[in-house]
Amino acid sequence: RGTSPVPPDVRPRLTVLSGPSGVGKSTVVAHMRKEHPEVWLSVSATTRKPRPGERHGVHYFFVSDDEMDKLIANGELLEWAEFAGNRYGTPRQAVMEHLESGVPVLLEIDLQGARLVRESMPEAQLVFLAPPSWEELVRRLTGRGTEQPEVIERRLAAARVELAAEAEFDTTLVNTSVEDVARELLALMKVV
Ligand code: 5GP
Repeated sequence: RGTSPVPPDVRPRLTVLSGPSGVGKSTVVAHMRKEHPEVWLSVSATTRKPRPGERHGVHYFFVSDDEMDKLIANGELLEWAEFAGNRYGTPRQAVMEHLESGVPVLLEIDLQGARLVRESMPEAQLVFLAPPSWEELVRRLTGRGTEQPEVIERRLAAARVELAAEAEFDTTLVNTSVEDVARELLALMKVV
C-alpha cells in the first residue's frame, strides 16, 4: 500500500461488532460503509454456499471444508466459529496489515468469534448490537410465522442466551435506527 507503519499509540484499535442473530448487524455495516468507505471491513472465509448476489472476495471468501481445515491448521485465522452448520473465520494477515497502516478495521462476527478476539487481542473494542426490545427481537425471529413452533421456541431460547452476552462487551448500541447506530459506531471508531 506504500504507507509507512504508524506508531502503536496512534494506531486505531480493532473494532468488533457482534450481537444476537437477527439483530441487524450487516444492515448497519452496509449503511456505514456506503458513507464511510475508508473503514476497512474484514472479509471472512466461510464454508457456507454463496447466496444470490454474494461475490467471492467481496462478501466472503467461499472455501471448501478442506480449505477451511488448512486455514485453521496453518494459524491463518484470527478467530473462527461454527454457526448454523457452517464455519466462519477472520483472515488474520489482512487485519494486521490494515491496523499497522493506521486504517480503522471493523469485524462483523458472531458472539463466539467476538469472545475469541477478546482473548487474543485484549485491546480490541467490542461493540454489542442490541435489539430495541425483547419484543422486537421476538418479532424479527418469528418472522412471517411460517416456522414450526418448536423451531421458533429454539430460536427464542438461543436469543435469550445471546442477549446475556451483552455484559462481556465494552459498549452496547441499541438498534433503533440504522442511521443512528452507524453514526455511533463511527464515533466509537473515531472516524467521525
Ligand atoms: P451469514 O451466514 O448470515 O452471512 O452469517 C452468519 C453469522 O456468522 C453472522 O452472525 C455473522 O456475523 C457471522 N460471521 C460472519 N463472518 C464471521 C467470522 O469470520 N467469524 C465469526 N465468528 N462469525 C462470522
